[in-house]
Amino acid sequence: MDADITIIGAGVIGLAIAEKISENYGNLFVIEKHLTFGQETSSRNSEVIHAGIYYPEGSLKARLCVEGKSLLYDYCKKYEIPYKNCGKLIVATTNEEIGVIKGIKETASRNGVDLELIDGEKIRELEPNIFALEALYSPSTGIIDTHSLMKRFETNTRNNGGEIVYGSEVTGIRKLDKGYEITLLDTDKNPYSFSTGIIINSAGLASDKVAEMAGISDEALRIHFCKGEYFRVIPPKNHLVNRLVYPVPHPNMEGIGIHVTIDMAGGVKLGPDVKFLDSNVYDYKTTPSKQESFWRSARKFLPFLEFVDIAPDMAGIRPKTQRKGDPARDFYIMEESERGFKGLINLIGMESPGLTSCIAIAKYVDGLIKKCSHN
Ligand SMILES: Cc1cc2nc3c(=O)[nH]c(=O)nc-3n(C[C@H](O)[C@H](O)[C@H](O)COP(=O)(O)OP(=O)(O)OC[C@H]3O[C@@H](n4cnc5c(N)ncnc54)[C@H](O)[C@@H]3O)c2cc1C
Repeated sequence: MDADITIIGAGVIGLAIAEKISENYGNLFVIEKHLTFGQETSSRNSEVIHAGIYYPEGSLKARLCVEGKSLLYDYCKKYEIPYKNCGKLIVATTNEEIGVIKGIKETASRNGVDLELIDGEKIRELEPNIFALEALYSPSTGIIDTHSLMKRFETNTRNNGGEIVYGSEVTGIRKLDKGYEITLLDTDKNPYSFSTGIIINSAGLASDKVAEMAGISDEALRIHFCKGEYFRVIPPKNHLVNRLVYPVPHPNMEGIGIHVTIDMAGGVKLGPDVKFLDSNVYDYKTTPSKQESFWRSARKFLPFLEFVDIAPDMAGIRPKTQRKGDPARDFYIMEESERGFKGLINLIGMESPGLTSCIAIAKYVDGLIKKCSHN
């Protein structure tokens, strides 16, 4: 074999896996089509370290988010990655929503996440400028500088002897008697093939396409692009909130509602909204005409906000296996021996909380490699 292990995709999850696995395997490659890491979903998200509040008990999302959150905080301290454990409020602005947040507290507690129910007075103490009747306070939520995190994963992978190859797009995967042959187009668009024992498909928005290249075509694993746009709060009103502030989420969890996030540079963003795209196109355009609806959603709990205080910011695309209107789906992380593809590990539908979970996901994938090497 030319490689023991090949990881396809250098987003935050592919790189977290690369760092973990390069500790134990010498001959490891990461193949990334862009000229550097994190050019897709990993640099177009809210950069929130989620607590693990909403996900169904026992799901991979719940388990890996809760474990990943602690691992990520420890990692940030160890490697001096900029982060802030700022906390988050989930705000009820109507009487009906008070009942809903009590339900959220119970789901969170089943996931091992403690939330505090706080009244109007305590809310005003924490965030004097917002409006809420009652709120849940999540002390373990935070924010992180994702670029610095990915840079550290990249550096550690290389220091461990792993090779990261940029500007190379995987275009074909052929199963061999043992292992796989991968074909790629290099930076000059010339085809190049090599063999590998194990493939880790961490190709984000294209992870279903990569699985298909290997021969796995499953309607349940098809990615549906789901765009999320942000507006930013313009100074001086960007200093009026100190924590993340979320509304009560929509029942089918297509998204968790237009919320307020702060970033490490002191910016305040509203969003993301939720829009399933008709086809899987990489459409990162922002829509200035959405300003009215963003403003109206946010104004329910940010009464100081005027229409002119916000401006279009950026957009990201969620790689959902869930179709529009369907219930939320879990991460799909699978070593595919049962489908006849030993040593192929697919990560599909790695939407939020993928960033928060990345180090726990890397541990989980390491476990799958060890298990499949012993069988
Ligand atoms: C709007 C939005 C907000 C979010 N907010 C949060 C949040 O606050 N907290 C949180 O925990 N998570 C959040 N997420 C989720 C998080 O961003 C993702 O889970 C995470 O970034 C996924 O990382 P990844 O490495 O799987 O994918 P990506 O970052 O998409 O990386 C995949 C890589 O694979 C490469 N690739 C694809 N096909 C090929 C090929 N054929 N050959 C070579 N390379 C290939 C791509 O170029 C890309 O670099 C959010 C997501 C979105 C869209």
